[in-house]
Amino acid sequence: MAKNRALQQWRVEDSIELYGIRNWGAGHFTISEAGEVVICPQGARGPQISIPEIIAGLRARGYNMPVLLRVENFLDTRIANIHESFRKAIKNLSYKGAFRGVFPIKVNQQQQVVEKIAQFGARYHHGFEVSSKAELIAAVSLLRDSEACLICNGYKDEEFIDLGLQSQRLGCNLFFVLEMPGELDVLIERSRALDVRPSIGVRARLAVRADGHWTDSGGERSTFGLSPDQIVDVVDKLKTCDMLDCFRLLHYHLGSQVPNIRDIRTGVMESSRLYVGLVQEGAPMGYLDLGGGLAVDYDGSHTNNISSRNYTLDEYCVDVVETIMSILDERQVPHPSIITESGRATVAYYSVLLFNILDVSMVEEVRLPDTMPDDTPEPVRNLREVLSGISPRNLQECYNDAVYYRDEMRQLFFTGRVALRQRTTAERFFWAIVMRIAREKGKLKNVPRDLEDIDVSLADIYYGNFSVFQSLPDSWAIDQLFPVMPVHRLNEFPSRQGIISDITCDSDGRIDHFIDSQGIKPTLDLHLLHDGEEYYLGAFLVGAYQETLGDLHNLMGDTNVVSIRAADDGTYEYVREIRGDSVADILSYVEYEPRRILEDLRVTAEKAVRDGRISPSERFAIMQTFEDGLRGYTYFER
Ligand SMILES: *Cc1c(COP(=O)(O)O)cnc(C)c1O
Repeated sequence: MAKNRALQQWRVEDSIELYGIRNWGAGHFTISEAGEVVICPQGARGPQISIPEIIAGLRARGYNMPVLLRVENFLDTRIANIHESFRKAIKNLSYKGAFRGVFPIKVNQQQQVVEKIAQFGARYHHGFEVSSKAELIAAVSLLRDSEACLICNGYKDEEFIDLGLQSQRLGCNLFFVLEMPGELDVLIERSRALDVRPSIGVRARLAVRADGHWTDSGGERSTFGLSPDQIVDVVDKLKTCDMLDCFRLLHYHLGSQVPNIRDIRTGVMESSRLYVGLVQEGAPMGYLDLGGGLAVDYDGSHTNNISSRNYTLDEYCVDVVETIMSILDERQVPHPSIITESGRATVAYYSVLLFNILDVSMVEEVRLPDTMPDDTPEPVRNLREVLSGISPRNLQECYNDAVYYRDEMRQLFFTGRVALRQRTTAERFFWAIVMRIAREKGKLKNVPRDLEDIDVSLADIYYGNFSVFQSLPDSWAIDQLFPVMPVHRLNEFPSRQGIISDITCDSDGRIDHFIDSQGIKPTLDLHLLHDGEEYYLGAFLVGAYQETLGDLHNLMGDTNVVSIRAADDGTYEYVREIRGDSVADILSYVEYEPRRILEDLRVTAEKAVRDGRISPSERFAIMQTFEDGLRGYTYFER
């Protein structure tokens, strides 16, 4: 274990192992000789860009933490990886169809992200998946490639359908995917009215269910999609209307972050059978759309943990292509174009949330009284005795006694029979006992169950300048794990164990589960703060889902967002900067009018002048403070 090295000399290599950066970094991130997290735009062997250096550059340009850093190169790389992997599998297996990737806009709807995907994806005919009118309009405005697919999922009203049909007229290769049977009548009617022959697909409700956080969107009981029975009805209705030639695509979606390749394969198998069935029914088909689900290895364990995946991208592609072939070839059905809607795997690596630590709260060595006054209550005397009697053989017993006497003192305090200082003395002895037990515990081979987590109660609390609700909502809502670690000082031994609290002061606004090669750990290895020096942490792989699920809890707004683009020689530029929300912005989101706020404040201030509490020039200074405050960043500034 690397930590044994602490006593000798901590090396960068030890940090690499401790934080598992090689496992989850996928060659995009590593630690430099200087002990800094670096970005590797061309993989592990190429040039390195120091994250602390990027932060220094941002500070010099007047950007405060937190900052969401986007590395454009990674978006480019991920899109290329997905296409190259499929291209390789298709070539090696002699598959006859093409691969067509699409990006589901809901995974990161930010204009800048969608625009870059359109740009980087152009050479591969990468398209979009949309589930609403707003997403459709955004996608059509950015997609200039008539070979790229535009998949319309979601419940579609007449307006949505008209937008789709008109987009087809503009040259979009657009597919209407039926989510429920009722949509078909409207689609038929509108396509006749506008005289456009639509490309139609159906979303199949498969029997297979994958394990994972989000799998309620798949499986037989899923609320989305058509049952085989309803799909046959679609075929019949299209035949009656002489529109069966419009039936081109079969779609399904197992749910996001499917960690087990077996579930992926089962889904492909079941949908391939359905596909064969539709071809046998006389539909022309041509496209099989496997939806999303391609997982990201957040914890780096390469297992079927929900935060991981037990397959590589190459294995995913080979499995998909092989499985489709095995079923279609058996029935001599021509190979369709394969579509995948990978969102998470496309954008997760692209963004890093950077924040500074504002303060740390530690359970310090407690000061115990030298002497006991005569009126010392009995439980306090007992606690002192427990402390002096601790040995590796009686840890559990001492712990039980300590809790008992501490609670007894609390009870006496509640009923007014002991004084505040007497109770405080009891709590000090209690913590001294807990600390001693935590130390002694290290000498045991088998630690009693109750004492396993005792270190957690002693963990430091590092206060981070960010909001979990705004920037890492899945960490709060579904306990999703993201790799979190310091981005510098990694050539120093991280001597503290801490959890991270955000600045919303909400008890849920914290990160207390961290990735670990042996599973999940309750605390993170962190460094002691140095006086007058910032300590920066990064939350990695946060490009998928986090930005648009985030909310305005405690009125913490959008963070500053900065994109960098690295050149081949390792130089980089800040290609785009978006200022985070100001206090005025955030207040206006919840229906305040900043102008009105100032007006109300002016009235209050003028009254204070009239009442003689402040002078007119003091009023000026006070109003100045409020005006500056409204213009300021919603996060802690220094
Ligand atoms: C959410 C969603 C996706 C994206 O899934 P990922 O696991 O992020 O790739 C794809 N298709 C549909 C229909 C979705 O709802």
